[in-house]
Amino acid sequence: MIKVEKQIGTKTEVLQISSELISEMGQFLRREGFIEILPVIISPITDPLNHSVLDASIDYYGGKYSLTKSMIFHKQLAVRTFPKIFIFSPNVRLETDDKSSTGRHLIEFTQLDLEIRNAKRDDILDLIERMFVDVFKDIDDKFGEIVRKMNPHFSIPSIPFKRVKYLEAYEKYGPDFESILSKSATEPFWLIDIPIKEREFYDRLDGDGKTLVDMDLIYPYGFGEAISGGEREYDYERILYRMGLKGNKPEDFEWYLEEVKKGIPPSAGCGIGVERLTRFVCNLKSVAEARLFAKVPGKMSI
Ligand code: AMP
Ligand code: MG
Repeated sequence: MIKVEKQIGTKTEVLQISSELISEMGQFLRREGFIEILPVIISPITDPLNHSVLDASIDYYGGKYSLTKSMIFHKQLAVRTFPKIFIFSPNVRLETDDKSSTGRHLIEFTQLDLEIRNAKRDDILDLIERMFVDVFKDIDDKFGEIVRKMNPHFSIPSIPFKRVKYLEAYEKYGPDFESILSKSATEPFWLIDIPIKEREFYDRLDGDGKTLVDMDLIYPYGFGEAISGGEREYDYERILYRMGLKGNKPEDFEWYLEEVKKGIPPSAGCGIGVERLTRFVCNLKSVAEARLFAKVPGKMSI
């Protein structure tokens, strides 16, 4: 992150830029043949995540609804209906207060979540790279002067983005490799082939049995993770096997497994944190500056 003496750019300007980012990403995806579907806010199944958060569920007539942590499972089901879908999905993750000052966490945030039937990881990397170029050009056209005042490093990313293998980076730089690489980078880059223990059961296991056919996009200048995604598991037995490795109980995912049994298509996709994108574009200290009514971990807010 670039240190500025005082915040340049008003909240109004930041929110206008955020609104333009949302609009242009949607338009780009529509031009690419995507259908926008409405978000799911409560469901008996939601993303188990790879880290623990406080419970956000509601008892309802003897059942339990969870607030959506991500729409991963619904995306896998939705590509039965449409080949390419996206959602601006409100996610509630009651993160613990040790995440209060990362600048990257809110307990309520929005993901632009997208999924493509029969796609491979490379299709998603290519799509996102082109979307970033499109969206950054659009921001430059409409808000170039304001954005450059806030963010002296603002530039249209060059594609293809660099690809860094997780285990190679870990070996070279140690456990802090993501932050080290993010701080020294001047362009977004992909982190690929993430080890199985770092991810949830639904990301597809590669032939090596150790790493996944997945990726994160990492922002430069220390802004850290932007996107997570990958190819998905869709075969019933493989999913059960992966749940077993992770200690996820099949009975907690009954609704999902019933659908998997009926058949879900192979797919790949990703989720982009909207507040993190705004933070990166506008060079903000925290995602809390990237939206109205921001909810920072560990605090109550309106
Ligand atoms: P995940 O699948 O958990 O990696 O989440 C997808 C994307 O959502 C991440 O790459 C971030 O951009 C964003 N994200 C995840 N958790 C949070 C959070 N607590 N606050 C804000 N954005 C988040
Ligand atoms: Mg992630």
